[in-house]
Amino acid sequence: MSEELRRAELAESLREVRERVDRACRAAGREPDEVELLAVTKTFPASDVALLADLGLTEFAENREQEARGKVAEFAELRPSAAARWHMVGQLQRNKARSVARWADVVESVDSERLVEALQRATANALDAGDRSHPLDVLVQVSLDASEGRGGCRPDEVAALADMITLKSDLRLRGVMAVAPLGGDPAVAFDTLSKISERLRGDHPEAVEVSAGMSGDLESAVAHGSTRVRVGTALLGGRRLTSP
Ligand SMILES: *Cc1c(COP(=O)(O)O)cnc(C)c1O
Repeated sequence: MSEELRRAELAESLREVRERVDRACRAAGREPDEVELLAVTKTFPASDVALLADLGLTEFAENREQEARGKVAEFAELRPSAAARWHMVGQLQRNKARSVARWADVVESVDSERLVEALQRATANALDAGDRSHPLDVLVQVSLDASEGRGGCRPDEVAALADMITLKSDLRLRGVMAVAPLGGDPAVAFDTLSKISERLRGDHPEAVEVSAGMSGDLESAVAHGSTRVRVGTALLGGRRLTSP
């Protein structure tokens, strides 16, 4: 597909997604600027990220460290002056912390004390080496079903993890993230998440972000207080390879 065709296609899907978010905000009595649009670009090329940046998007997410690393570098060559922030939203092994600290502005998938330790160490090293210039924003990922498969800590582990993050000099606690359980009612999951967020904000008023909602359930997430929807398919199209 030519770049011009792809640009037109992305412009149209971006318009549709923005319209869905706006409509969901109006229905919930919220302002559209309360909900940030995070483009999940996993499995799509850096050239698509460049086109989305041209269309005004600034927040991009990846779920695999190895794929992201190269894409972030390629994007920086394609659009050296674009303002972009990169989010890691996938499960992260501790041995990838070093690398993720070199390219990520935000890690949304923090779910264990050992990962917090690794990210603090890696961020401090990256700051020392001049590989980054600012602290790492982090969200605590919460698992809203019992299955361990897609990452996230238990709801009753959020408070301790959050306390620990705020003691780390180079990490900034920003809020919570969750994926609605497969096959369940997303409204129930997002309602639970909003209560977890409310409790967290009681202890940490700065942790205001609620990263919730994807292509299939963003309306429900916005209705339950999401401040950031993570949209892949509805923006970029179907993924040929399914990412775990
Ligand atoms: C892939 C992914 C998304 C986006 O999912 P879509 O259904 O394609 O919008 C959101 N969040 C996470 C954690 C993901 O891995």
